[in-house]
Amino acid sequence: MPHLTRTHPTHALAVALLLSLLWIAGWAMPTPVAARGTVTLLESTATATFDSDVTFTLDVRSPTGIAEVDLLYGSGGNSYTIVPLPITPAPQVQVQHRLDPRIFYLPPGVDLTYYWLIRDTDGNEYASERQSVTYMDTRFAWQERSERNVTVYWYEGNAAFGEELLGTAIRTVNRMEAELGTPVSGPIKIFMYASGQDMRGALRANSVEWVGGQAFPGLGIIIGIAVPGNVAEVRRIVPHELSHIVLHQVLDNPYGGWPLWFDEGLAVYHQETPDIGFDTLLNDAARSDTLIPLEALAASFPTDTNRALLSYAQSHSMVVYIIETYGVEKLQELAAAFRAATPVAVAIEQVFGISLDELDAAWRSTLPAPERAAPPLEGGPSRAPADRFSSGTPGLPTPHLGDGGYFWLSTLLVPVLIVAWLGSLRRMTRPTPDDPPEEEG
Ligand SMILES: [Zn+2]
Repeated sequence: MPHLTRTHPTHALAVALLLSLLWIAGWAMPTPVAARGTVTLLESTATATFDSDVTFTLDVRSPTGIAEVDLLYGSGGNSYTIVPLPITPAPQVQVQHRLDPRIFYLPPGVDLTYYWLIRDTDGNEYASERQSVTYMDTRFAWQERSERNVTVYWYEGNAAFGEELLGTAIRTVNRMEAELGTPVSGPIKIFMYASGQDMRGALRANSVEWVGGQAFPGLGIIIGIAVPGNVAEVRRIVPHELSHIVLHQVLDNPYGGWPLWFDEGLAVYHQETPDIGFDTLLNDAARSDTLIPLEALAASFPTDTNRALLSYAQSHSMVVYIIETYGVEKLQELAAAFRAATPVAVAIEQVFGISLDELDAAWRSTLPAPERAAPPLEGGPSRAPADRFSSGTPGLPTPHLGDGGYFWLSTLLVPVLIVAWLGSLRRMTRPTPDDPPEEEG
């Protein structure tokens, strides 16, 4: 503005007045955020209020008229939710969209990326720049510390507690990089709550009561409970949940998954504080012939607490068996096969040279023998579990038959069903184990 430089001193007051008027006018007239073609973005914002809403606001103008507006938002990755917003076509359109996190659950710390697709009345389409908003649990004054790709958040306890959280996390990441032979660089956020009550406010409304921690692998977010000073609990929860995140970052592919027993088994294996009672649970189940077939632990764990804990114990034991029997190189090979979306049974066969059932049987042979062994079945594997064909305990996932299973089904269906029926009778009359359930997260 060259005229300002030529201002005569006597006009200084007038100029100052003019400047302040311009400044006020500038305040009142929104500065365009972005413009392309005929479309001018006057405002594009999002605000997040914990446990209430994430509100996206758009104010947009086009002399030819705005005809349609879509909001696109997503959390990590390239998939977006598209929300067509109801508008009346006009030269200027102001629109808001409110997301309710009590309906569409959002974990604390999640970054939502969003942008707008705007069409004018001439049919020109305009996509705004991508912006982001972070949904934080603002009930607490979080402290944070970062190293490498990991950031830890805590609100109770001093800097040393944060150091303990971060140190434990970094140890786990380093260890897993070495085990899996793959660098880990995706961002990871860990939120540590000081009580179950505090954390439950940040969990999905229907979360199980005994959950001690939760990982959101696709988002790289972990939430957990540990009272400052409880180093043992930090070293139990952080490596466990971190294991899920790192494994997801290393194995994720668009074509296939990996079995749950592998994921949970590794998570328990990485805990620096072990879960007490797993060995007892495992040995009791082996003696009473109530172990769960490995194949049934591929997709989900039982909802019954004792059977769920047994599932964790079995998964852990299987991972330890694989590492101790075959070495960490074979673990890497197995991980690589899962990353390449190889079906589980094929991956096992490829890496170990035996079938899934044979691996299961070999692992079972390291445990105590059943105290009342089932009658031997002629012609089949000596340790084929009879209960894999029964409907099992309520809450157990229905066992599905693998390649070997069809042979069994076609040739030995009748005797197997009788054995299964006898087995279920035995389970019904056997007293339930009196071990109290361990809280596991
Ligand atoms: Zn887990």
